[in-house]
Amino acid sequence: MNHLSKAFLKHFNYEPTASFFSPGRINLIGEHTDNFGGHVFPAAITLGTYAVVGKNNTGLLRLYSLNFPEVGVITVDLNELDFRKEDNWANYVKGMAKYLKEAGHAITVGLDILIEGTIPNGSGLSSSASLEILAGIIFEKMNDLTIDRLDIVKLGKRVENDYLGLNSGIMDQFAIGMGAKDQALLLDTNTLVYEKIPVKLGENIVVIMNTKKRRELVESAYNDRLRECQEALKRLQTKLPIASLGELDEESFNAHTNLIGDPILIKRARHPVFENRRTLRATEYLKAGDLKAFGKLVNDSHISLRDDYGVSCYELDTLAENAWEQPGVLGARMIGAGFGGCAIAIVAKDQADALIKNVGKIYEEKIGYPAEFYIAEIGDGARAL
Ligand code: ADP
Ligand code: MG
Repeated sequence: MNHLSKAFLKHFNYEPTASFFSPGRINLIGEHTDNFGGHVFPAAITLGTYAVVGKNNTGLLRLYSLNFPEVGVITVDLNELDFRKEDNWANYVKGMAKYLKEAGHAITVGLDILIEGTIPNGSGLSSSASLEILAGIIFEKMNDLTIDRLDIVKLGKRVENDYLGLNSGIMDQFAIGMGAKDQALLLDTNTLVYEKIPVKLGENIVVIMNTKKRRELVESAYNDRLRECQEALKRLQTKLPIASLGELDEESFNAHTNLIGDPILIKRARHPVFENRRTLRATEYLKAGDLKAFGKLVNDSHISLRDDYGVSCYELDTLAENAWEQPGVLGARMIGAGFGGCAIAIVAKDQADALIKNVGKIYEEKIGYPAEFYIAEIGDGARAL
């Protein structure tokens, strides 16, 4: 933290008065279900975005990120909060300020904000949602407001959806805003009812495996999958009284695939339906301490994302599938939007080094450059420090 205060002093010529942290997230299981009213099971991690902040007695925000020094200080007028491409990463902060104001909160205090993230950007650990929720709690605390945390979570999603035009679900902001140490959140994305479940992995840990592949195609593929599943839902609704795919179980889906007809649409829609049920079963196994059964469902999740939903890629498959072959691995799968980013492996503590070494070697041989590995620790949600 000290080097953040020093950097703040250098850029703004006074000492910051407050500091904040907002985590990234992993998702244990329940991928690509949150746009379809299904369940997700994410957890906040101890990697995240730090901020030091001071009041500058103007109506301006002055923003600096140690991760983007080439961008310099970005100045934002609190009365001009529309999206502007040239404002770069500050748009995430502006979007949050805009929607908080629209929701009736008095966001008036000029602030200098210096941030630094320890999450690799664009790797599916949701550095963007981390930044949105960070901005939300900074505005809340520095303007002496009390804002319902769930409102900040929902506005974070709106920043992605309406401000930036990305059709992502609510999982990331929810995990980051509501997460708790050593617990994952079983969230029903239809109702936003959730349960905190202790992640008791015994002698096992979660290793994050980063393909280091910058995601491409992600947005267009994401929208294609959404459209395909919406079309499948529409066809199912001709006979079934459902509002979302998350309401179906495997049996009723299988019994009605004839309504969908098109084999591609059937595959696409099968993923959120089956993944939702897998998520519910996986959390029961975790509660019961059956880690083997939990891990098997984690593997099945990857297979479904690869074969049915079609959002994996050679790099993610190389990490997950080779992890499956390593001793002590309970389960492994891609996480996040897909086409790059990260996978996770749940592995015995004393076999983690070997996993990292072996999968790392295979990855570099096959892909031509090294993957990165981190141990995921499950931490608290966004907070003032
Ligand atoms: P992901 O959310 O998977 O990490 P995104 O592409 O959605 O990837 O978000 C990454 C973007 O979020 C960055 O390009 C940047 O604009 C913004 N961002 C995230 N962390 C920081 C940071 N520490 N400093 C400045 N901008 C950040
Ligand atoms: Mg993001």
